[in-house]
Amino acid sequence: MALTPQQTRELDSLIVERRNALAAELRQDARKTRAEQFGEVAGEVPDSGDESVASLIADLDQADWSRDLDELRGLDAAHERIENGGYGVCVECGRDIGFERLRATPAAIRCIDCQTRHEKTFAGPGAPSL
Ligand SMILES: [Zn+2]
Repeated sequence: MALTPQQTRELDSLIVERRNALAAELRQDARKTRAEQFGEVAGEVPDSGDESVASLIADLDQADWSRDLDELRGLDAAHERIENGGYGVCVECGRDIGFERLRATPAAIRCIDCQTRHEKTFAGPGAPSL
């Protein structure tokens, strides 16, 4: 069933809200990581390979970031599809994704069936599954 204009508006505000929260989180993380990298972490463990610990944490944070950035990009793209059309339609089979799934995952680009198939085919560590 296609989305009603009211459902679309509801999903759009979910998307914008989540996007703004995520962007704020990323800015905060960036500040925190800089502080950790150039001070606290290296300073706390001065005797045991402190540099590698600091760089390990930096790497972990970067993995976090890229997940968050992927999500941010997905939300931006979803917002654009709402504006330009094509939102809520599965990119693989062309059927409607459905309001309930979109409410849980507003940036979803696939219906449940295609998503399940996609995850089986492309399952890998850290792969975002929208
Ligand atoms: Zn589909």
